[in-house]
Amino acid sequence: MTSIALQLDLLQQEIVKNCAKRQNFIHKVDLLAVSKRHSADKIRQAYQSGQRLFAENYVQEGVEKCQQLADLDICWHMIGAIQSRKCALIAEHFDWVQSVDRAKVAQKLSASRSTKLAPLNICLQVNLFDEAQKAGANKEQALELAQLVEELPNLKLRGIMAIPPKKTSSKQQSRQFAEIAYFYKHLASIYPNIDTLSMGMSADFVPAIEQGSSMVRVGTAIFGARE
Ligand SMILES: *Cc1c(COP(=O)(O)O)cnc(C)c1O
Repeated sequence: MTSIALQLDLLQQEIVKNCAKRQNFIHKVDLLAVSKRHSADKIRQAYQSGQRLFAENYVQEGVEKCQQLADLDICWHMIGAIQSRKCALIAEHFDWVQSVDRAKVAQKLSASRSTKLAPLNICLQVNLFDEAQKAGANKEQALELAQLVEELPNLKLRGIMAIPPKKTSSKQQSRQFAEIAYFYKHLASIYPNIDTLSMGMSADFVPAIEQGSSMVRVGTAIFGARE
């Protein structure tokens, strides 16, 4: 077994174990492999051990990998900051965009998504703790944006994505994940078809799952340190 295959296997076991402990959020949890700054060859190795969901942060790098790996049926997620002039490239190559945090980006993605393709799956990136240095919509903005995404023809609202503040204490961290999950539930009460609460990375996916995550985004724990 390669080390990537081994890490994926261990992670899946850890995810299943933590899902089983949950009382409230009984949906399954998807593992999204974050492959930014890792080679197409490593992605291929992960694919060969069954991984299908991959995420990239940088448009150019992501598009190159989509092209190099076009023979694989990978579901590609964009999770990085988005410049509006890159929206057409994203809409052409990706299946999901999790980092939508403003109207202009949503509008451009919808306008450039080919009607021959399935609608682009959208998560709104939220920033619920007033972190000025981070992207993301606050609650009010996210509610407005959700309505816009619902109305745009070539987009499909799937949920929210969050990168919470750096850990100060375990208690604080869990409280923050719980607050994100609470907002997600509120959004789901308005849009009952959404199904994705994307939170948790290599260092914090266990508490994120405990608090209701449905998709964890893991890079380092699968592929090792980035260059
Ligand atoms: C890089 C990145 C991740 C993965 O981080 P790791 O700590 O390597 O697991 C997850 N989410 C986003 C938005 C990222 O940019």
